[in-house]
Amino acid sequence: MLNEHDFITSLIKDYYRVVPAPAPDKIEQREFGCGNWETKIAFRHLSFKTPKELKDYLALNGPPFISYSPAYYRFPAGRPMDAKGSLGAEIIFDIDSSDLSLPCQMTHGKSWVCPECFDGVKAELIKLVEDFLVPDFGFSKSEIAVNFSGNRGYHAHVRNEAAMQLGPDARKEITAYISGTGVTPEYLFPTIGQRGQRLIGPRPTDKGWKGKIARNFIKALDGGESALLALGIDKTTVAKLVKNRPMVIMGIQQGNWDMVYIKNKADFWKYVIQNQTVAQSDRIDHNVTNDPGHLIRLPDSINGNSGLVVRKLASFNDLGKFDPMKDAIAFGKGELKIKADSKYPIVMNGKPFGPYKGVEVAVPTYAGVYLYLKGAAKIIEVL
Ligand SMILES: [Zn+2]
Repeated sequence: MLNEHDFITSLIKDYYRVVPAPAPDKIEQREFGCGNWETKIAFRHLSFKTPKELKDYLALNGPPFISYSPAYYRFPAGRPMDAKGSLGAEIIFDIDSSDLSLPCQMTHGKSWVCPECFDGVKAELIKLVEDFLVPDFGFSKSEIAVNFSGNRGYHAHVRNEAAMQLGPDARKEITAYISGTGVTPEYLFPTIGQRGQRLIGPRPTDKGWKGKIARNFIKALDGGESALLALGIDKTTVAKLVKNRPMVIMGIQQGNWDMVYIKNKADFWKYVIQNQTVAQSDRIDHNVTNDPGHLIRLPDSINGNSGLVVRKLASFNDLGKFDPMKDAIAFGKGELKIKADSKYPIVMNGKPFGPYKGVEVAVPTYAGVYLYLKGAAKIIEVL
């Protein structure tokens, strides 16, 4: 019987032998942590002086997970954490499909990822960068490095000199801002819920969330029916808004949001606001944006949840055409015989695999490894 973990470990070692070292900038100032098949970070406080040292380590050990510190340290191997001497830290955003509410997840659950999930996380990342990081925080796209997480989402790493010095409290404020904390209908529309009062609201020229809501709403009105439906607005209201578009836009420009009658205004606006926030993991122990001591998956390393590469994109502009199930494939050679039991099909390298009902089948190595790591197959033999 083939031991799958040993087999995949040998694939990982081979992979690291042939690719360039996945070294981050200032490698000598980074802390690293490695995982095994039981835990994603089994040990940390590792440091590597050079890319070669890192490459040799990975080729020798083939860890299924390797993470590194967004922080730069004087003594990255120092412990406890206080002894490391922080020199600043990248700001990290972790966008994962399991933190989104997508219609397809009603069918396949949150742990499986389908093409719609991949589109959903991509849209969320574009929103983060284009609606928040660039216009509201003033970062340039060249300061934002983006990588596929290797499993269900994307990571954005901001390397802006001033931002890298921000402490945990300032980072919490950034998370709160992009999650729309405090952006309630009452904040945007002071007269909401007051009978007989005109609904006064934000203007496109307002700063922060107010201006953002006004501009995005006008943009959706200009985009027509589909754009309004995408904001989660019901069909009847959409029809009314489209019909009265010029008048509604003129009203919003003057801060008058009462040009069309909307039922249950408070609920309606709450929903529209919700649609414009960025979904971030709110599990405290998991929030990588707030905690510079949290390790994040190393770009261009292997992710042992999928066998895919934590692929670093050359630039943010490459995101549109990036296909994780093709462009992040690591194990491109050979075939495996697997016994597969998968409820949903996957498409890798442009080819569909499954669904399978307990059958033995020959598949490319990358597909066999992926299905095994997702608990949907056993690997029988290497062909
Ligand atoms: Zn899905």
